[in-house]
This record gives sequence, C-alpha cells and structure tokens, in this order.
Amino acid sequence: MARKQTDSMKKETAAKQDAVSAAEQETPAVVDAALAEKAAPVEEKPKGVGEKKTAAGKKAVSASKKTLPPKKRQPVRKKEASAGGKSVPAAEKAVQPAGEAAPAAEEAVSAAEKPVAGEEKTAFASEETAPATINMNQPRRSIAFIGSECHPFVKTGGLGDVMYALPRELVRLNCDVRVILPRYACIPKEYQDKMIYRGEFYMDLGQTKRNYYVGIMEYIWDGVVYDFIDNEEFFSTGKPYTNLVDDIPKYCFFSKAALAALNYMDWIPDIIHCHDWQAGLVPVYLRTLFKDSPVGRAKSILTIHNLRFQGIYNIPTIRYWSGLPSEVFRMGALQQDWVDANMLKGGLAYADRITTVSGTYAGEIQTSEYGERLEDHLRYHSGKLRGIVNGIDYGMWNPETDPALAANYGLGNVLDHKMENKLALQKELGLEEDTGKFVIGLISRLTNQKGLDLVNAIIPQVMDGNTQVVVLGTGDKQYEDSFRYYEGAYKGSFSACIQYDEARAHRIYAGADALLVPSRFEPCGLTQLNAMRYGTLPIVRETGGLKDTVEPYNEFTGDGNGFTFDRYDAGLLLDAINRAKTLYFANRYHWDEVVQRDMAKDVSWEQSAKQYKDLYLELTPW
Ligand code: ADP
Repeated sequence: MARKQTDSMKKETAAKQDAVSAAEQETPAVVDAALAEKAAPVEEKPKGVGEKKTAAGKKAVSASKKTLPPKKRQPVRKKEASAGGKSVPAAEKAVQPAGEAAPAAEEAVSAAEKPVAGEEKTAFASEETAPATINMNQPRRSIAFIGSECHPFVKTGGLGDVMYALPRELVRLNCDVRVILPRYACIPKEYQDKMIYRGEFYMDLGQTKRNYYVGIMEYIWDGVVYDFIDNEEFFSTGKPYTNLVDDIPKYCFFSKAALAALNYMDWIPDIIHCHDWQAGLVPVYLRTLFKDSPVGRAKSILTIHNLRFQGIYNIPTIRYWSGLPSEVFRMGALQQDWVDANMLKGGLAYADRITTVSGTYAGEIQTSEYGERLEDHLRYHSGKLRGIVNGIDYGMWNPETDPALAANYGLGNVLDHKMENKLALQKELGLEEDTGKFVIGLISRLTNQKGLDLVNAIIPQVMDGNTQVVVLGTGDKQYEDSFRYYEGAYKGSFSACIQYDEARAHRIYAGADALLVPSRFEPCGLTQLNAMRYGTLPIVRETGGLKDTVEPYNEFTGDGNGFTFDRYDAGLLLDAINRAKTLYFANRYHWDEVVQRDMAKDVSWEQSAKQYKDLYLELTPW
C-alpha cells in the first residue's frame, strides 16, 4: 500500500548504478562507502575509491558515536549475546571503532538477542484497559505485527489504517497483539510523550562491523501494545520513507531489530504478521539468523498491501546491510534478474502464509498485468496465498460521532444532514454554496496508480455547471499542477486541496455525493469503504478490492452500491460518472435508497479479522 516513494523510485536506477559500481570492487570498505554516503545526492557520479574509503571511515566514526543512546534514559545494563553465547558488555561494544568490531560472520549470528541471565528487565509501565468486549470463547493466540506505519502515529496510506484497525479487532477475538514500529522522529509529540522506556540493547547489523543501539519505547492503548524501535541514526528523518538508498538499510535494521526486540522482551508470539516490503526480511531472518533463537519457533505471515513496492536493490548492498547468508540470495528467494535482490520476494518465499488485501487482487497479482514481475514467484507460492479484504475502523469512521463534521448523522437522518455537510464543505472550500449541485470527491495519493490521467482527461466534460469536484491529495507534480489548473479554470466549482489533511478528508466523505476511485490497480482501497460508510456513492474501476467491495448499481433491479466501469479507459469513466449523475438528478428517490444501503453495508473489520484469526489458527492448530 501507500509508499510515497515515487521520487525515490525514479532515482533508484541512478542510485543502483552508483552502489553497484562501488560494490563491484568487492572490498567491504568500498561497499560501505557507497552505502554509508547515503546522504549524498544519488545522481552523483561514483567517487574515487580512496575518497569513498575516507568518507566511509568518517561515517563509521560519526555513526559509532550515534549508536550511543541518543537521550539517555537509563544506564546501559544489557549485554549482547554473541554467536557462541559469549557476551560482550554492550557499552564496551558500542564504543568499538568500526574497524575493531568482531568478524562479520560472528556478528551476524549474534543477532538473536537474548536477555542476559539474571538481568532485571523494565516492567510494563503503561497499562490501559482493554476493550470490554473480548470474546473469551475464542482460542487465544499471540500475534506480533511488524510494519512501517500505523495510524495515528505515522500514516501515508491504507497500510497505516490496517496496522491500526486490525490489531484492535483481533484483541476482541482474544488475541494478544503487539505492534512493532519504527520510532520515527515525525511521530507527533503527544504520542512520543506517552511512550514509556521498555529497554535497550545493542545489535550488530550485516557486514557493517558495528553495533547499533536498539531502544524499545512502549505505549499500550486499548489492549494493543505498541513497541517502537528507537534508533536516531535510522529514524530521525522528517518522514518515514525517503529514498531507497536510505530506506534499504533502515528496513534491514528495523526487520532485524524487531525480531531481536521480541527475544529481548522474552515475548515469543505464536504468529509474526509482517506487512509489505519494509518488513519483508522478517520471515527470512526468522528462518536463518534467528532460527535457533526463541522467536524462531513463531510462524510467519506476510501481507502484501501493494505489490508495486518491493524493496529492490543490488545484491551486494542488501547482503551488506542484512547480513543474510548466501543461500537466501538465490532465484527462488531474494535474487531477481541476476544482479538484484528483492526484499519482498525473499519474504514471500520464506513466509508460512502470504496474504493480500482482497480476493481479486490475490488473483490479479499472479498475472503479468498486475504481478509487477513477481507473478511467476507468486504463482509458485499460490498454495499459501490468500486474499482477505480490508475493513475500516468503525470508531474512526463514524458519521454519528465524527468530530470533524459540521453535522453528525446516521442511517435514520442522513438525507437531512448530508446536505448540511455539503453546504459546510462548499463554504470551507470556497465553492458555490448550493445543495442542488452534484459534488464529486477524490481523496487519494496523486500517483499514476490512482487513475488520475483518466480523471484529467475528462474534467472538462464533467464540469457541466451542475457538478462540483473536490480533490484532496498530494503526490506527483503533474497531477498537483493539473488539478490546480482546473481549480483556476472552474472557479467556484472545482477545488484542489493539495495537502494531506485527515479532518478535511472526513468532511469530504460526509459532504460529497459521490467519490471517485478510478484506479489502474487497487489492492483493496479504503476510500470507497469510507465513502459508503458516510453515505457517499463510490464510482470505481472494477479492479482489486474495488471490484470485491462495490457492487455495480443495477438500474433494473435497483440493487448495488455504486457505479463501476471495467477497462482502463477515460470514456468508460465518464460514462460511469454520467450514470451516477443521471440517477442523482433524474431519480433521487432511488439514489437515496442506495445512500442508505451503503451506510447499512457492513464494511467493518469484524468479518475480515475473523478470517485472519482463522488463518492464525490454521498455522497453530493446537
Ligand atoms: P493507498 O493506501 O493506496 O494510498 P487506500 O485507499 O488503501 O490507498 O488508503 C488511503 C487512505 O489514506 C484512506 O484512509 C484515505 O482517506 C487516506 N488519504 C489519502 N489521501 C489523503 C489526504 N490527502 N488527506 C487525508 N487522508 C488521505
């Protein structure tokens, strides 16, 4: 799902060339240099080897300073478990210059952090009440979620919603859930302040010959335990994703640290549920470096939220940062196209189960059209692949209680109050205030995945004097600019909100009549679910989860939830919008019926969470 890495993907080729040319020289120092100079512009030509060594050296020194706990919360008490069970005092290792660190092989095996015998651990300091509705008749299972974003701490798209909502629902199904996330500096202060120090240790990483600080900060909320992996060197940028040059080392570190943290906390889950490429190495670590450690007995599930993002880089780089053994860099696992390693691909090979976020997408990704070059690999592993459609969190998305809305409403009074929300939205956005206008919303990352070229192509035909369009999103400049242009061209009828604004998104769901989701591909899609919950009819392309969640309106029977089109074609999108307009203007009674039907439709997590629970039980049948 939502990786805002478009720019980074563009830079990827240049970056790879840089790193490959450096790595080809096959001296660790050179590889280190290519990667250690993460901050340098990726387009820069490779520097001379000598220069790189110097830079690497500098980096190593400054980095080893950084490995000390940034803001010291408690004295370092932990020792690091090494391969042979020998422990080196953490503080001692931390100040070791890079060159004097233990041999890489030994370092790599020492990953399975174990609490040192007799060491006193910090107890859970924050406990909040679990929801009262835990179904104790359900078998109990423990699950560790590992992923790169989670609402409300950090979210760039649907992955953040899922990481928030699914654990909460699983708690109700008698699961013990712990969510492991990076402690990004961009997490709002209100949450940073609530985190409690849980412990710390030092961990080697790949062939870096360095020891990295791993802090664990904890926050317990509604029965879910959130453990944030703390390390300033990796997580201090203002946003979670920057570019692959930074992100590859960051998520190698995170994946390994997450498993090491479970061992450290001595909390060994039945299932480790990983999400997207950022946690793709977790199943690989679990079956290699961690297989003989306590966490090695857990089963793993890898969920694909968006196959487009895979974490691909050249083999020497990923080998360098991950420290994974050579056998995983083969075509059946991480290797791709002979020179590259693919972190998601490796995870898919080693996970006990693979899921993706809708049944249709599970089928689509096994075809060349949607498979993003992993279709063969996915077909090979199709026996362990399932599609489970996402839901939405009914606490977060509830028009009856939503504090962002001008007027709250439910199924019984939607027809009156939706108009109030429409007027308030028009006022807020400087649109002509007229409840008679047909308001179309679009809330989306502005990327090529989302079908925005189709939208751009038909805006002049959509703007008929009775229609208003509201766009909320950020992303590719070409789309931001074209929507700004349309705002100028259709003053009072077109609003381009080029921003990320949660509260405004809620007001658009409530105030619009229809919501556009014409995606080129859509693993699940959440905006159409949010829209239905707020009585706003979705207009979607029949792909992925959009196909599974929106039944097309049938003008003969009156059945359906929205308006759909199949081929990726601007004319067909326009046709679907016109069908919606016709129903709205010519047959409001039936339109209103669909509004109410959509609001009554169950798009909650309840059913989907049960399917995940069944999958967990399938893997742990005791
Ligand atoms: P994706 O994960 O591909 O971005 P989804 O439909 O799965 O798309 O999830 C998008 C989520 O992000 C929805 O909850 C949507 O409301 C939210 N969202 C997207 N863009 C914005 C924005 N500009 N401002 C606020 N929320 C947004």
